[in-house]
Amino acid sequence: MTWSLRHETLSLRLRNPFRIARDFDAHQARTVVVELTNTNWPGHCGLGEGFPDTYYGETPDTMVAVFPLLIEALEGVAFVVRDIASARRSLRAAAAAFDVRLGHNGAAKCALDIALHDLAAKQLGVPLYELLGTSRDVPPTDFTLGLDEPSVVADRAAAAAHFPALKVKVGGPHDLATVQAVRRRFDGPIRVDANTAWQPEEALRLLPALVELGVELVEQPFPAHRLDQLAWLQERSPLPIVADESAVTVNDLDRLVGVVAGVNVKLAKCGGVGPALRMLQRARELGFRRFLGCMEETLVGITASAAVASLADWVDLDGCLLLADDPFTGTKLGEDCRWLLQAQPGLGVVRAS
Ligand SMILES: [Mg+2]
Repeated sequence: MTWSLRHETLSLRLRNPFRIARDFDAHQARTVVVELTNTNWPGHCGLGEGFPDTYYGETPDTMVAVFPLLIEALEGVAFVVRDIASARRSLRAAAAAFDVRLGHNGAAKCALDIALHDLAAKQLGVPLYELLGTSRDVPPTDFTLGLDEPSVVADRAAAAAHFPALKVKVGGPHDLATVQAVRRRFDGPIRVDANTAWQPEEALRLLPALVELGVELVEQPFPAHRLDQLAWLQERSPLPIVADESAVTVNDLDRLVGVVAGVNVKLAKCGGVGPALRMLQRARELGFRRFLGCMEETLVGITASAAVASLADWVDLDGCLLLADDPFTGTKLGEDCRWLLQAQPGLGVVRAS
C-alpha cells in the first residue's frame, strides 16, 4: 500500500491581536494542513491539521522535516479498513508506530492522525464521531480573550458575551484589573490561564479575589515542571487548578494525580484525535476534571477536536473563531455555542471555495 502526503503551511490573520504570557506572534497564526491519500482507496483524501507551538519545540519547518519519518513508520503498519473495529485497530497501531519512530512532535503526528481518521471514516462511509465511538452531543465552547489593556479585554468580553463562558489570558501586568473589568461586562463563568507566568505567592494572594469574581478554574499558573508549586497551590485553592503545559500527552497524567484537579487535553500536543480520545479516557479514569483545548487551528483541527468533546467537562474550541478568514467550511457553531458535528462521512470539512 502506498501513502502519499501533501502539506501546506498556512499563515492566517487573526481577527484581534492575540497575546499570551509567552512570546507569540499576536497578529497571525501559522498552521500546517495535510492531505493524505492511499492507492488502495482511490477517490478518497484524508484532511488533517497540526498547529505547531514553538513552546513544544515545533514550527511548520520541523513538521515538514519529520513527515517523511512518520510516513515511513506508517508504511510498516498493516492498515486495514474493513469495518470500524479493524479501522480502530489500524489507527491505534499507526499512532503507536509514530511514537516508536519519533518522540514529541505532537503537531506533526496530529496532522497525520487526523488525516488518517478522516480517510478511514470516508472509506467506511461513517462520520468521524461514529468511527471514534463518541457522542455528537458536546458541551458548548467558551471564547478566549488574549492579554491586553483591561479596558480592551473588557470590550472584547462584551462582544463575546453570547458565549456561555470566557477564558481570559492572564500573566500580564494587570491581571486582577483585567478580570474585574471583564466581570463588569460579562455575567458567566470566567476561566483564567496564566500560561506558566505566575509566582506562587502572587497566585495565592490573587485567589480570594478570583473566587469572589466568579472565576471557575485557574489554568497552568506555574512552569510545566513545577509540579511541587502546582500541588502547593491546589492544596490551598477552592478552585480547580488545571494543568496544560504540564499535561502534554497521556504519559504525563499519572504524575499529576494528587497535584492538580484538572488537565487540559489538546490534539496538537498529544498527537491527534485518537491520542486525545485515549488521554481523555485515561484522565477520567484517574479522576481528573477534563478541559479540551486548542491552538489557533482552522475548522479542520477544531472539528477533529469537537469529535472528542463529549468526553470533556469544559470545552475551549474557539481557535478558528479567532481567525479573520478560515479557509475551511463545513462544521457550524450552534446558537448555544456547541459545535454541530455533521453526519456526513469523515470530518465533514472541505476547503471554502
Ligand atoms: Mg493553556
